[in-house]
Amino acid sequence: MVAGVAVGHSRETMTPKERRNAFAENRPYDRIPHGFALGDAASRVIGSNMAEFHCDPEKQLKATLTAYKTYGLDSVGTTIPIQELVGATVIYPPYSTPYIRDTLELSEADIDALGIDDPKSHPKMKRFWQVLDGLLEAVGAEAPVSVSVGGPFSVAGRVIGTEKLMRKLLKEPEYVLKLVGKITEVQISVVNSLEGYGVSSFGITDPVASGTLISPEQYRKFAKPYEKKLFNAMTRVAGRKPQCHICGDTNRILRDMVETGAGSISVDNMMDLDYVVSQVGTDAVVTGNVNPTETMLSGTSKDVREDLRNCLKKGSRALGGYTPSFGCGLPLNTPHENLVALFDALWEFGKYPFNPENL
Ligand SMILES: [Zn+2]
Repeated sequence: MVAGVAVGHSRETMTPKERRNAFAENRPYDRIPHGFALGDAASRVIGSNMAEFHCDPEKQLKATLTAYKTYGLDSVGTTIPIQELVGATVIYPPYSTPYIRDTLELSEADIDALGIDDPKSHPKMKRFWQVLDGLLEAVGAEAPVSVSVGGPFSVAGRVIGTEKLMRKLLKEPEYVLKLVGKITEVQISVVNSLEGYGVSSFGITDPVASGTLISPEQYRKFAKPYEKKLFNAMTRVAGRKPQCHICGDTNRILRDMVETGAGSISVDNMMDLDYVVSQVGTDAVVTGNVNPTETMLSGTSKDVREDLRNCLKKGSRALGGYTPSFGCGLPLNTPHENLVALFDALWEFGKYPFNPENL
């Protein structure tokens, strides 16, 4: 990616909030809204690395806002450091995904003791507040500012180790329920502390709750009830139902995902959007699933255009609405040219009045 190349906002005639409202009310808009987010890959836009992005709030703020301006993103956001809030030490390497240094050995008494008194003053929350305040101040009036967090079940997997979690599902189910429940409580206390703060929406990423790792029955017992609790708090605080992203195969839990109270079901690129649309029905917005690796990282500009076109065609049949976005996290080395191709195609396909028949 190249810093400072204006490809996004230069052709816009509406702010993201104006566009979102116009689209929802079927009034003329400059282009359809999208949910594409760069995540950690935004660090590259300012020539920064992942460690700086995560550890230096000034850098994260600058990278997020530069990516927003450069590509014409429709929202900005940051992430609650939930793993650190429950006691894990996270290592941030410069050029790869953050990981936990030593997985935690938590006794049941340790789990009981988990919790935070005041999310506003907690030392591990300092960077989060700094980034969030900066985003709200810079673009809060024009763009939705979202807050994301790992799903409760996935956070449990991260902090004690996914393999151990999988063993405990079978051998010590009560332990897992207790741990996931406690993580959910901590998350809800942070969400509640955001009441009246100006956050437009919340979202979770729950990769360990995937059908690739656990059965639908396990999802219904260990993940879904806690997502539901968390989503209740998120909906109350933001006044809008949250987005639920589960990686990999979610074919057998799509209806469950809807039943959690999520307003937007975000699916992986391995999922067939036609099937997702048929399952979700009118109950939520469908979002996804441009392929972040095969298309965005390794594909040509033509591949990018075709992937987006296919997603828009299939997504447009969603009765509860569709928002184009990536099928999962965007790789760090995604070429700038492919992002330019993506947003060029979005402007071409998504002009008012959007008509999927013309794609
Ligand atoms: Zn994913």
